[in-house]
Amino acid sequence: MTRIIPEDAVERRAVRPVICYLNETLPDPDLPGLQALRLTARKSGECLVPPREARCFHVPAGHFFRITSVEGPQVGDLNLWSAADPRERFYSGKTRALHGTHLTRGDRMWSSFPNLRPMATVTEDTLEWYGIDEYGGSVHDVIGTRCDPYTHRLLSGQDYHHCCHSNLTNALMAELSLARDEAEPLVHDVLNVFMCTGFTRDSGQYFMKASPVRPGDYIEFFAEIDLIGGLSACPGGDCGSAHSSDAAACHPLLVEIFAPARSAARAQPGPSAYRWP
Ligand SMILES: [Zn+2]
Repeated sequence: MTRIIPEDAVERRAVRPVICYLNETLPDPDLPGLQALRLTARKSGECLVPPREARCFHVPAGHFFRITSVEGPQVGDLNLWSAADPRERFYSGKTRALHGTHLTRGDRMWSSFPNLRPMATVTEDTLEWYGIDEYGGSVHDVIGTRCDPYTHRLLSGQDYHHCCHSNLTNALMAELSLARDEAEPLVHDVLNVFMCTGFTRDSGQYFMKASPVRPGDYIEFFAEIDLIGGLSACPGGDCGSAHSSDAAACHPLLVEIFAPARSAARAQPGPSAYRWP
């Protein structure tokens, strides 16, 4: 079939884009207030996530949690659930629409409908300097999903059991004593911690490249509500080449929890005030 290009194609393409959600209309995360609170905090717990596995951890509202690269470059797939009701979980798509394709300091991780409230706020990010590279790549994306055995089977015909989806499902089953068919639907699209990704300019395809993360780099969050976190040390390692296999070099990730000496001078965000007619 011949593709017909309209005469005014150039004009139609030249229409200027409009930002869908203006940052100025989002509630202010009050980073200076959080930084002052952080200075009072002491470490209250930690959890080491082994390579090609996931672990869950609890973070009370008002505490901070930090994810650190240790031993070698490693990407982590992060899920967040409300500890009060894990059906309320991180909403990657809406977070992307609100903040952009990649998160850094000052951005929030928003929860699913009907709550749509900030679950966590990024308070520190040692990879903030990376910005957007010449390929359009950046770090900590909310555009990927999580590596999973179903897509791997679809594309390769092979079964692989240590995908982030599988790891997160297993970790949540253990944490909440759930059966697989209860836990698996609660696993959701992730924040790809330390992962460097973008879309190719010519074909619009999702790409990854070796993460710029190095041991000692970290991203830190303030828990706005009581949270259960799930973190998988992706079998892709630094995600520079292979995925969903045992080929890549993989390293652990460290999760640390920090408890402030006083409560935050802010109320926990409530569920969305929207009411159906
Ligand atoms: Zn993965």
